[in-house]
Amino acid sequence: MAREPALVVHGGAAPWEPAYHERAVAGCRAAAEAGATVLAGGGSAVDAVVAAVRALEDNPVFNAGVGAVLGAAGGFELDASIMDGKALRFGGVAAMPDVRNPVEVARALMDHGPHALLCGPGAWDFARAHGFTPADPAELRTERAERRLAEFLAARVDDPDARPDPGTVGACAIDADGHVAAATSTGGMTGKAPGRVGDTPLPGCGTYADDRGGAVSATGEGEAIMRVGMGKAAVMRMRLRHSANDAARLSVAELGADTGGIGGIICCDRRGRLAAAHNSPHMPFGAGVIRSGRTTFVSGLALAPDENLMDLLERARGA
Ligand code: ASP
Repeated sequence: MAREPALVVHGGAAPWEPAYHERAVAGCRAAAEAGATVLAGGGSAVDAVVAAVRALEDNPVFNAGVGAVLGAAGGFELDASIMDGKALRFGGVAAMPDVRNPVEVARALMDHGPHALLCGPGAWDFARAHGFTPADPAELRTERAERRLAEFLAARVDDPDARPDPGTVGACAIDADGHVAAATSTGGMTGKAPGRVGDTPLPGCGTYADDRGGAVSATGEGEAIMRVGMGKAAVMRMRLRHSANDAARLSVAELGADTGGIGGIICCDRRGRLAAAHNSPHMPFGAGVIRSGRTTFVSGLALAPDENLMDLLERARGA
């Protein structure tokens, strides 16, 4: 069914250090623009979420690709996934070392299979066979990630108020044909144990998309998000006729009530309505809706409990 193409991105549900607020919002806005450009050119929702997440992976402000956080052993293990709501196709990579754009490997896996999820060195066997080459770890490493790991190791214990790390990224989109897609990418959590995998590469947890409901990307404490199957639950709510906004809010409320977890979610329902909700202090976002060839954008650092993405977009359109 023909729809107004639309896309929403997030930059991670977390407490964000003030020095990064402006860059986080600008990065989300730029990623929304990258995704919207694909949609405005008649591209698919899958191509749009890859373009948006790739822009965020290339931006060192975010905990994905360049700028990813470091594990306890001082190296990178990245998680990413993508789902196409048209035919429930899925691809994910987990604990994959030294990869600059893991969302592209996930997409290649979704397109070429035969598996849906690959981890560690095996993910690199697949990636190499499809033309990817490992990144020099120096290319991904930032002073901020090194500082966060040093602080984590010096404290020897985890500071619950600093968790989760800021900067996991995700995108959800609907294209002009009414197909939805979602993608998510992360370095995980500072100081994580080797082999730790969060919700991000798991279908129904960090990422889910089904044209009959909508598309979602979740962020926050992965151990909690996977216990409530947050992505699938949110899409089921949209299949059961909840709006994107209700699905986002109910899913975050469930995460908090059932697990005490901190997190957030973005949703795009099958009618093209966009939403974001979080119980973390911040979750930078960017969104764009294309109507009659004109794209309206909004972006911000956090949504207040009574704020609604569609209202913000409506106001921006009128401005
Ligand atoms: N959900 C991610 C993980 O647990 C982290 C995040 O979203 O901040 O790996």
